[in-house]
Amino acid sequence: MPAKKTAYWIKNTHLLRQDEFVCSFCKSKAAKPSAICPHCGSNMKGTKSDTGWVDEMEAIDAFFDD
Ligand SMILES: [Zn+2]
Repeated sequence: MPAKKTAYWIKNTHLLRQDEFVCSFCKSKAAKPSAICPHCGSNMKGTKSDTGWVDEMEAIDAFFDD
């Protein structure tokens, strides 16, 4: 059993295109934050942006609702 890794998403906001999320562990990019990094399998503890931790799932839900 591999040790469980934990990481978080780093939110990159872009003015003219969709936000992207970067895994703090493997630096892979994702279009949306997920509970587990699809690339390295880390357990994602949350999302961090330049302004700090983002824990508002409602905001993320709204982001997905297109
Ligand atoms: Zn990763």
